[in-house]
Amino acid sequence: MPEAIETTKRKFYKALDSLQNPRAARPVEPAAKRVRRSISTSSTVSYSTPNLVVGSRKDDSPARPPPNFSPWSSETFLARLKTFSSVSLWHPKPEAISEVEWAKRGWVCVGVNTIACKGGCQKRVVISLEATKQREDGADSEEDDEQDDTDHESAFEDALVGRYRALVVDGHADSCLWRKAGCKDDVYHLPVVRATIWQPELRKRYRSVHQICESVRDIKLKALPYETPGLLSTERVLADLPAGVLGPPGEEQPTPEDSLKALEIALHGWRGSEDTGNELLHCDACFQRVGLWMYQPGYKPAHSSIDDDAGDSAIIDLVEMHREHCPWRNAQTQKSAGSLSGLNASQILQRVVSTCARDHTRRSEEQQRAGAQREDDELDDDASIPASPAPSREEVEKLDKERDSRLKKLKSLFSIKRKGSKLP
Ligand SMILES: [Zn+2]
Ligand SMILES: [Zn+2]
Repeated sequence: MPEAIETTKRKFYKALDSLQNPRAARPVEPAAKRVRRSISTSSTVSYSTPNLVVGSRKDDSPARPPPNFSPWSSETFLARLKTFSSVSLWHPKPEAISEVEWAKRGWVCVGVNTIACKGGCQKRVVISLEATKQREDGADSEEDDEQDDTDHESAFEDALVGRYRALVVDGHADSCLWRKAGCKDDVYHLPVVRATIWQPELRKRYRSVHQICESVRDIKLKALPYETPGLLSTERVLADLPAGVLGPPGEEQPTPEDSLKALEIALHGWRGSEDTGNELLHCDACFQRVGLWMYQPGYKPAHSSIDDDAGDSAIIDLVEMHREHCPWRNAQTQKSAGSLSGLNASQILQRVVSTCARDHTRRSEEQQRAGAQREDDELDDDASIPASPAPSREEVEKLDKERDSRLKKLKSLFSIKRKGSKLP
């Protein structure tokens, strides 16, 4: 694999490997509950992201939360980032002072636009960009000066953002370790090319979507285009992946269409979840939640003023619904190296999965061929049958085509919209 191997990275992957699985399996926790719990445990210095770390280890040894200063740990980074996911506490900010920047430098969100170095130097910063607005409202500007005001306003906001940008580092006390270093730029990188990570993660997401298959059945999806060389269609992937990768779908009896949609959703980083009776798609990297009831056919928001769209349900764009900084959507955040650079995690995973499905098909065909040869040579005692030569590129393409036509019928059952199709 092209990713550099450094000690810190090994540690980070190891931590991620042992911690991601149980976390993804845990049911979704309402935001309000999370907040309550973190507040209840935050009165002392012992914070260090307790609500997200405790109980997330596989082994029997008592869970030992990572130290507060853990810039190498993507697990603690994600735990901090998660504190910013409540829309009522954290309002969108310019990129330079976005939640990703604060979380990379050890900050957690503790109140309305308020962050703190919990478990570290305990400093707090309140981020208010409202000053711009107040100035605008209070200014006794004449209409002639409107342009001047706009210029001032934007210069003022730039200065304000610059000031907060400095506080990402300087907001910490002099002695705080987070002042000296923050997370590396690739701390948000998702290791989706590692089979030991992507396979169990994909399986879990796939199965979790099956559990809410009734809410998914009628919604329209927009997915990545797979007309890219090297990518197999989701139908092909579903048919060709080794059985163990996705596993049995659980207790549900899904239709092929359910399975196809579940896989499509899971390949884009989403898992199914349920919160107080409402079924959602949830991302464990950017903590975005998509309420599926809003995408059912015939759904009309209570305060809708657009009559044209009545009865025409919206489409879930499986890439764009992630927050902008999410590695499932953003290639810069994903920061993959080599031939995968410039690709977001959804694109990388689909490539990896396509390769896995294709390799599996090739191997089983080789085995069949070898088996046939064994039958021909049934009296031959030689146990070491030479492997049949790998199929040529033309042969692989021919086999791909054959399978495509077999799947055409199946494919015609589905109505998944592809990226590039027009939004209503
Ligand atoms: Zn600090
Ligand atoms: Zn996301």
